[in-house]
Amino acid sequence: MNPNRKSIIAGNWKMYKTTADAVALVGALKNEVAGITKSEIVVCPPFTALAAVAGALAGSNIQLGAQNVHWEKEGAFTGEIAPAMLKDLCVRYAIVGHSERRQFFGETDAGVNKRAKAALANGLRPIVCVGEMLAEREAGKTEAVVTGQVRGSLAGFDKNQILETVIAYEPVWAIGTGKTASPAQAQEVHALIRRLLGELFGADVAGKVRIQYGGSVKADNAKELLGQSDIDGALVGGASLKAGDFAAIVKATV
Ligand code: PEP
Repeated sequence: MNPNRKSIIAGNWKMYKTTADAVALVGALKNEVAGITKSEIVVCPPFTALAAVAGALAGSNIQLGAQNVHWEKEGAFTGEIAPAMLKDLCVRYAIVGHSERRQFFGETDAGVNKRAKAALANGLRPIVCVGEMLAEREAGKTEAVVTGQVRGSLAGFDKNQILETVIAYEPVWAIGTGKTASPAQAQEVHALIRRLLGELFGADVAGKVRIQYGGSVKADNAKELLGQSDIDGALVGGASLKAGDFAAIVKATV
C-alpha cells in the first residue's frame, strides 16, 4: 500500500446469497466495519439482491458494486444489465472482465473495454479484472498476457477515465483454489501494470490508480499482500461471504 492511494477492499459474492441472506450478511458486516474510513469497502452482491442491499447499506461506510454491466443504454440484450439500471440502485462500482466471465461466457478485452467505458459514462467506477491462466504463467507468458489485457481493456481511455477506474490483478490459478500468489509474485505483476499505466497515461496518473490483488485472499494472508508497495487493496471472492472473514481482511488494511 502507498499512503497516496486509498485502499479498496471489494467483496465479489458471485452467484451466492438470496435477498434475505444478502441483507443478513451486510447487516453483520456493517457492525464489524463500523467507523472504518481508511479503506473503501465495497460489496458486489448478485443483481437480484442489489436493491435490498442498497437499502440495508444506506448511511453506512460500505459501498455497493455490481458484478457486470452492459455497454448499451437499453435494448434486446437478454440477461444483461444496463448502467442506468445500476445507477438507479445506488451502485457505485461495477466489476468488468472477471476471469469467470472471460472463461465461461466468452468475454473479450474489446467487450470489457466497452463495458468499462459505459460504466464510466454513467458515473460508475469499473473494476477491470486481468490475470493469466496457470498454463500461461508456466509458459512464461504472464507479462505478455497481462499487458495485452490491460492495453485491450483500457484502449482509448483518457486520464480522467483511468483515474476513476480500479484494476484488479487476479491470477486465474489463484481464484477459488486456495493457492495465493506470493506477495513477491503479486507485487511483480502489480509493478508491471503500474509501469504500463505510466507508459499509457504518464507516471503521475499511474501513481494514483489503485490496483487490487485477487485470488484466495484471506485474513491470514491479507496483511502481507497488502503490505506490498503496488498493491492497493483486494478483490475477495470466497472470504467475502462471511462477515467476520471479510471484516478481518478489511481490518488488515487499516
Ligand atoms: C474473485 O472471485 O475475484 C476471487 C478472487 O475469488 P477468491 O477470493 O475466492 O479466490
